[in-house]
Amino acid sequence: MSNEAKPETLGFQAEVKQLLHLMVHSLYSNKEIFLRELISNASDAADKLRFESMQDPTLLEDDADLRIRINCDPEAGTIAVSDNGIGMSREDVIANLGTIAKSGTAEFLSALGGDQQKDARLIGQFGVGFYSSFIVAERVEVFSRRAGLGAAEGVHWASTGDGSFTVESIDRAERGTTIVLHLKKDDREFSDQNRVRMLVRKYSDHIGFPVQMRAAGETADAEFETINESTALWTLPKNEISDDDYTDFYKHISHDFEAPLAWSHNRVEGKRDYVSLLYIPSRAPFDLWNREAPRGVKLYAQRVFIMDQAEQFLPLFLRFVRGIVDSSDLSLNVSREILQQDSGVEAMRSALTRRVLGMLERLASDEPDKYRQFWNEFGAVLKEGIVEEPGQHDAIAPLLRFASTAEDGDAQTRSLQDYVEAMSADQTKIYYVFGESDGAARNSPHLEIFRDKGVEVLVLADRIDEIMISHLAEFDGKPFQDVARGELDLGDTASDKEHADEPPNDLLEKIQKALGDRVAGVRRTGRLIESPACLVVGENEPSAQLRRMLEAAGQSLPASAPTLEVNLDHPLLARMATEESASRLDDLSLLLFEQARLAEGGLPEDPAGFVKRLNHLLLDMTEGRKVWTPA
Ligand code: ADP
Repeated sequence: MSNEAKPETLGFQAEVKQLLHLMVHSLYSNKEIFLRELISNASDAADKLRFESMQDPTLLEDDADLRIRINCDPEAGTIAVSDNGIGMSREDVIANLGTIAKSGTAEFLSALGGDQQKDARLIGQFGVGFYSSFIVAERVEVFSRRAGLGAAEGVHWASTGDGSFTVESIDRAERGTTIVLHLKKDDREFSDQNRVRMLVRKYSDHIGFPVQMRAAGETADAEFETINESTALWTLPKNEISDDDYTDFYKHISHDFEAPLAWSHNRVEGKRDYVSLLYIPSRAPFDLWNREAPRGVKLYAQRVFIMDQAEQFLPLFLRFVRGIVDSSDLSLNVSREILQQDSGVEAMRSALTRRVLGMLERLASDEPDKYRQFWNEFGAVLKEGIVEEPGQHDAIAPLLRFASTAEDGDAQTRSLQDYVEAMSADQTKIYYVFGESDGAARNSPHLEIFRDKGVEVLVLADRIDEIMISHLAEFDGKPFQDVARGELDLGDTASDKEHADEPPNDLLEKIQKALGDRVAGVRRTGRLIESPACLVVGENEPSAQLRRMLEAAGQSLPASAPTLEVNLDHPLLARMATEESASRLDDLSLLLFEQARLAEGGLPEDPAGFVKRLNHLLLDMTEGRKVWTPA
């Protein structure tokens, strides 16, 4: 032990303290996961060493057989997990085991609320890792030495998990890391050799390194024996792999403790030979909406780990996919830059994209309940694919799901295929309505005629929907049509509502005059049954919602006025037709326009003026139509 190395006490980053506290309380019923997490970390450390040793073989020292060892000591109440992988320096230990580097951690933590089940799920989405040791341990010690550093540069870390840890330099002959858990009194079962053996077989059978233990009851000088299969799962033939194997392997690579929804394992021989094993998680990760968050597959070349989060193999809209890609003809010293320029990688990317979309298609047709869960978690991300990958429309469009007026509730369960199959013979378009929320969209006055005629309308309320639909343009040869846009054409079904050949209406002209250039025109409508008026945007104009969204994001759009469509059968219009006072008719016209804006989620241009006009009219009503003027 080097004498000048004083133990140093350091505080955990605030987020770690919080995470530790919450984890210990909410994961208690999943406590055995700590073992899988420690073995995964050990396996990653061995992967990293193998990779680095290709550049610098001296890192292997004289200990080239990479393995993980577990020591149980029931008398001392400890379990220790050791690896001869890459190891950590003193700085590594302080950074890795004292802080959390993931961005968005604070937001994640603030979403945890003390409901044990919900929190456990959220923590699962976050990934637990090393800190899960504290679920079962009252004290954790880490002994480590980074490969390539001298024996005097070992490090010892220790903590009871409540706020601080100590670090101290030590002598350590062996490269790699040993993690010793001093188990809580109630968790001594994890120092039982047989219990741990079973857990390793259950959870860690198919990681790529041997996990070794001594036989139960054997003393410290007994030989270690390998207790897992220790062949990387993806290298096995499919018929030798059970669903449980696939699930456990997923948990290893993802640090998720829920089972995946689906997976696809393929060996491809062609221009590029590779194996891929891709998974769809059952929950969205906490940072799904952070487009900068790390994503991508684990990349191997000829079974040697190359890098985590190789994002070049899948498009951004499939960022929720987890898995591995093992290529036989990538060079072992490939870098992210090289991957970016490699045309073979580009070809793999489109093949893997098709693979994932094919897997989703199968899930949708064979396991609709699971697909519904997929859609709830990731549907909004999949929609980005319509915008980002025009080449994949045919594969993505059938996977889309929508809320619809054909169904109650706001669940997105209707496919475009469902819609098209339910269309009547004379319907030529796929109708949709936008709203800021599902409820707002469903209350749109534009839906009145559709409801009346029994024509289904898709209800779109996600932010991305309008942009997505504009990229999609059509499905099965049927164009999409916004119900609030352009002249209404419901084919024969609504022709009785069309009045194009009627003589110009005096009232319409008066309303137009009152509104001036607020509107592009005023016309009689066939759309409305209950409402007096609605606004309609031009065929090529952005909708009111999109306009508000873009303007809120700081974009300025060329001004364009909507058309006011009025329902002449409505009693309010009948009343207006008999209004003698020109100023009252102006007020009523403005109110008509303003309420049409409100109905689609907008605000009157001049809210105070609107309120004043409204109050005038209310008083007229209550005072028997006496005109009231403020004192
Ligand atoms: P994660 O594995 O998700 O990054 P952890 O909290 O489990 O999070 O670990 C944090 C970091 O500590 C790891 O990224 C790794 O750099 C380091 N680490 C953990 N265990 C080991 C180990 N056995 N050998 C080397 N480094 C390790």
